Amino acid sequence: MSDLKDKQALDRRSVLKGALAGLAALPGLAVVERAAAQAAPVHLDENDAAAKALGYLHDAKKVDAAKNPTYKAGQTCANCLQIQGKNGDAWRGCNLFPNKQVNANGWCRVWVQKPA
Ligand code: SF4
Repeated sequence: MSDLKDKQALDRRSVLKGALAGLAALPGLAVVERAAAQAAPVHLDENDAAAKALGYLHDAKKVDAAKNPTYKAGQTCANCLQIQGKNGDAWRGCNLFPNKQVNANGWCRVWVQKPA
């Protein structure tokens, strides 16, 4: 009889411990999820003040060469020294725009040839 009571008490303690551990983890999980959401990069808006100042466009083919004499066909964010991330990704980080992603086909006046 005593063994049964001991076993029941142990089971209750185990359930209680598990429940408390689960509750304790929830606020921490919420903080981690919030931090991840805040850190998730967003696509750079062409109308962003810094983007506009540098003449950034999502599509380099739309660059007005008359207003941007340094632009040459074939220059894109994908082959710029400032690009980050993985080759082949459509949207990638750029050293000039922290926590934003630029279009791999984009361009801005800071473009510099990435070494081969
Ligand atoms: S610095 Fe390079 S990668 Fe960044 S937006 Fe300008 S052209 Fe694109």
